[in-house]
This record gives sequence, structure tokens and C-alpha cells, in this order.
Amino acid sequence: MTARVLVVDDLEPNVKLLEAKLRAEYFDVVGALSGEEALEKAMADQPDIILLDVMMPGMDGFEVCRRIKAAPETMHIPVVMVTALEQQADRIAGLEAGADDFLTKPVEDLALFARVRSLTRLKMMTDELRARYATGKGLGVVENIDINSIDCLEGESRIFLIDDNEDQTERLKSALGDKYDFSSELDPEIAIGRARSGDFDLIIVNLSIESMDALRLCSSIRSFEETRLTPILAVVRSGDTRKLVRALDIGVNDYLTRPVERNELNARVETQLRRKRYVDQLRSSFQASLEMAVTDQLTGLYNRRYLASHLSAMFDRAFWTGRSLAVMVLDIDHFKSINDTHGHDVGDKVLVEFADTVSKSVRGIDLACRYGGEEFLVAMPDTDMAFASVVAERLRQEVEGNKIVVNSGRDEISVTVSIGIASTENGPEEDTAQKLIKRADEALYSAKESGRNKVVESAA
Ligand code: GH3
Ligand code: MG
Ligand code: MG
Repeated sequence: MTARVLVVDDLEPNVKLLEAKLRAEYFDVVGALSGEEALEKAMADQPDIILLDVMMPGMDGFEVCRRIKAAPETMHIPVVMVTALEQQADRIAGLEAGADDFLTKPVEDLALFARVRSLTRLKMMTDELRARYATGKGLGVVENIDINSIDCLEGESRIFLIDDNEDQTERLKSALGDKYDFSSELDPEIAIGRARSGDFDLIIVNLSIESMDALRLCSSIRSFEETRLTPILAVVRSGDTRKLVRALDIGVNDYLTRPVERNELNARVETQLRRKRYVDQLRSSFQASLEMAVTDQLTGLYNRRYLASHLSAMFDRAFWTGRSLAVMVLDIDHFKSINDTHGHDVGDKVLVEFADTVSKSVRGIDLACRYGGEEFLVAMPDTDMAFASVVAERLRQEVEGNKIVVNSGRDEISVTVSIGIASTENGPEEDTAQKLIKRADEALYSAKESGRNKVVESAA
């Protein structure tokens, strides 16, 4: 995996040194010698990670970090602050400015590479979601999501701590206060099961547990479907770089060193929770935009685009299961005259009610879609011509009997429908979804020709 790293330091030798180390590991490096230059390059070069010196003349690292995290174009880029001193106050200030991690000068190679790899990998996962979200937003189908305006919903967030030491569990619990829905487990084996069924927003793992290999525990959490994407915050003994590096490579999202400092713990927990909510929102907005792309806006049925992709899968299945697939094409009779007499809005209402009748009279496995203006199509798996004919006739009668109330109750309209049906059962081997629809269409045409308000089976 390669990544672009922006290294920011007011002293050129420091930039050169980090550059050389990172280049040797095949990272692509860009340098900046001031806060202003860093902001420009962050914007223009869109690095995957920024290593940011804290002490700089003019704009210091905290301010640069704040600005990076406030700008929509750069706020998704992880920032690692590089500090001269291991100062607790600096760490808190950095976390509050939105920093993702800290490295202390002189920078230890192993920790540096592991951190860069881990943060860029996490970023790439959200990059894909962000790209889809941007597409949805460009199409105007999803609403605005801004990570800075997401709160981490303290009362509702579920945190799970896995630690086999009771005293440490109590200490961590009291450091978090009672802001969260907190639970813990002393037995790591049981913990895995609880993690999978608990729908947690964050799992905190003590990497120094003795009753199980903590790294194995983390990799299990990462591998199960239910917890694959749940953020993990690891607690590591200070100086245990080797274990930390492994944990980051396994996919732990963030870490704290022991003794755990209350403010730092709370800041990191909050960051992870906020990020999880952000990713959840991106994912559900993508889901919503997908649904929108395949749904007819007026009736809520699937649209023709969805039918095209889904019907061929249904058709294939019909062939390899040997069960027949039936299709009915429905067209409202004399619909144009409803528009002409009552207006287009009333016509729309008739379409909505008609679609409602159709979706109520088909099964869950059937695919109902709006095929054109006042033309609908229902594909029915495991259905032969005889059964399709019963369904179609029942639907025809239902439509005929329905009174549609319009103009605020002043008028009632009833419509009739003509239906053509076709199925795969008599078809030759080279039958296709298109041919099936064509036969149903021809049947519909004869229903119209022979007087409308009737069901006609395809002759083929
Ligand atoms: P037939 O019995 O032969 O099917 O006659 P018809 O009038 O139903 O068929 P025709 O194809 O001549 O007219 C269909 C009409 O449906 C024309 C079009 O303006 C109208 N239409 C198509 N889409 C919509 C829509 O979304 N809303 C409304 N209100 N009308 C629509
Ligand atoms: Mg019609
Ligand atoms: Mg028509």
C-alpha cells in the first residue's frame, strides 16, 4: 500500500529526515515549511496523511490542525502531531484541535510507519464511502453530512470494555463517567460473543490481558461480520511499541498508553464515536441514494432501470431451478381521458392508487415495477401460466371494483386495466427476458384489441 504523506516542519532538516525515512518505505512525500504552506498543500495535493510539527513560528501546529479539520476539502485527512516534548497538556490541546495521533521527536521509525499505514488504511475505507456520497450529493439525492456537526450522542453510544483486570476496569469506567451506555467483560472468550451480539459503537481492548492473546482477540473482532467495522480503541502499556505496531496493523483504530489519562481517554473515545456516526451516515445515505436510483418517484415501485438488471437474474434462476417465471404487463385503459377530463394531478393520483393495488396483490418475491407512463410490469418467480392467470384476473377485478376518490371527495373515478401474461414454461431453450416481456406485451395488445378490461395469455 502506498500513500501520500505531507510532512510539515519549520526546520528543513527535519522535513528532509522524515522524507528520507518515508521514501525508503515507498511512501510518496510532500514537504511544507510553514503553517500557511501546509494548508495550501493539504488543499491542493490532498495527501492521505499529514505529519504536523507543533512548534512553528507564525501559525502553530494546533491552529493548522484546527483549520484542516474545519475545511470540508481537508477535514477527512488524518493529522499526526509531532511534538518535541511528551507534554500531556499538548496532547489534550492537539486532540481538541482534531489531531488523530501524536509522535514524539525524535520519531521512532517503527511507530511512525505503523501509524502512517494504519491511518491511511482507515482513511481509504472512508474515501470510498465519501466518493459514493459525493456522487449522491451531485445527483441531489442525499442531504448534507458534516462530521463537525455530528455529536457523538453520549447517552446513546454503547461502549464495551474487554479487560481481565477488575481494578483497571473500574478505573476506566469511572474515568468515562456515566455519559455512555457502558458494559465490560472480564473473560475474553465470552467477550467475543458479547461483542458480536451487542451492536456496540466502540470496543476498548486492554492489550495486556493475560488470559488470552490480546492481538488474537483484536483480529477476531476485526474478522467477524458483526464487528468488522466497529472501532477498536486499544490500551497499551507504555513502551510496548512492538505490540502496538502489531495491533495497528491488525486494524485497531486508535490507542491509549497506560496509565490512562482521563481527558485523553475521553477525547479519543469521543473522536472514535463521532467518526463511527459519520461513517454510518455516509453508508446509509449511499443506501438511500441507491434506493432512489432504482425507485419510481411517483408510485414508489421499482423503476425500469431496476427491472432491467433484476429481471435477467430472475430469468437465469428460473432456468437453473427449472421453475417457470411469469410476467404480466398491465396498462390502464383509456388513461389519457382521465388526464383530459380531470387534469394531470388527478391522473397522478390514479397512478399512485393503481400502483398501490398492484403491490398489495403480489407476493414479496414478486417484482412490481412502473414500466412506463401508465404501464406496469410484474415478474413472478415460481409461477406458471395457470397461476399467473389467476393472479392477473383477481387484480383486474380488484382494479375494476376500486373507487378512487379525487377532488377532495367530490368525485369518484374508477378505471379498468388490460393485462397480458407470458411465462417461460412453454418457451424454447433460447428464451430470454426480452422475449418473455415481448410475448406479454403482445398478449396485452390483443387484450386492448379485443375490448380492454381483460386478461390475455400469450399464445406462444
Ligand atoms: P389505452 O386504453 O389504449 O391504453 O389508452 P390510454 O389512453 O390509456 O393510452 P395512451 O398511451 O394513449 O395514453 C397514456 C397517457 O398516459 C398519455 C400520457 O399523457 C399519460 N401519462 C403518462 N405518464 C403519466 C404520468 O406520470 N402522470 C399522468 N397524470 N399521466 C401520465
Ligand atoms: Mg393505457
Ligand atoms: Mg399506454
